[in-house]
Amino acid sequence: MSVAGVRGVVVDKELIDQLVEVAQRVVASGAISANGHGNVSLRVPGAHEMYFTAGPSLRNHARSAVVRLGLDGTLLEGDLPPIQGAVVAMHTAMYEDHPDVGCVLHTHSPYATAYAVAHRPIGCWVEALAMFGLPTGAPVAEYGPRGSEQAVGNIRAATIPGVPAVLLANHGVLVFHRTPELAIQVGSIVEEAAQAGINAGSIGGPVESPRSSGPRLSSAPWSSRAGEPRTRSRCPDCASLVGDLLAETAGDGQALEVRRLALLVPSVRSMA
Ligand SMILES: [Zn+2]
Repeated sequence: MSVAGVRGVVVDKELIDQLVEVAQRVVASGAISANGHGNVSLRVPGAHEMYFTAGPSLRNHARSAVVRLGLDGTLLEGDLPPIQGAVVAMHTAMYEDHPDVGCVLHTHSPYATAYAVAHRPIGCWVEALAMFGLPTGAPVAEYGPRGSEQAVGNIRAATIPGVPAVLLANHGVLVFHRTPELAIQVGSIVEEAAQAGINAGSIGGPVESPRSSGPRLSSAPWSSRAGEPRTRSRCPDCASLVGDLLAETAGDGQALEVRRLALLVPSVRSMA
């Protein structure tokens, strides 16, 4: 293990191995452009630092190309080429803004990037988006030159509280979540939804999921702690926020959550 925050100490080999494995899994997910361009970072637990893939592609990313950075952008270990260094700030900004985020993933996954290039948000026309924290789809951050303060500011401005992804105009996709597994999953779902949206364009266009326009769901998945996926739900009768209710596919935990909800809202007692 490394000593956090001290320049020149031995890097954490376990975190490097984990980050390289995450890069391989992003490639395996298919939600990436053919050239493998993109980058992934992991927050160092308990430290104001992250590990970052500084290689030119996530395909076969070399362990030696992983760098350690302070969340203020300071390079602590490794070599950081300027072209990769330019996008460090959009990673550190997500860690700074969202204390629960443990992984940031950036790709140019083709279909989602098509929406980003068109400056069009991805709507919630695939139900999985609502289940995984994007009940209003994926917003678009306005264009700013790659790596600029303006670009990072636009990302911050476009980010919806609790929604773990944003499209980057004329660039690609940014996903941020508690764990690499969840970040990869959301990246895949966003790409899947984008592909479905474009395919549906030739047969009348995608239609928003009724779920996304029904009782308001304001998911905060990377700030929830128990169970995946989760959504926060409003009572259909009184519209007040009554608690967390697991999505339909969440398994055994659902009954527990519905019972907990039933203690608060009489109208759901029949569901328990
Ligand atoms: Zn990029």
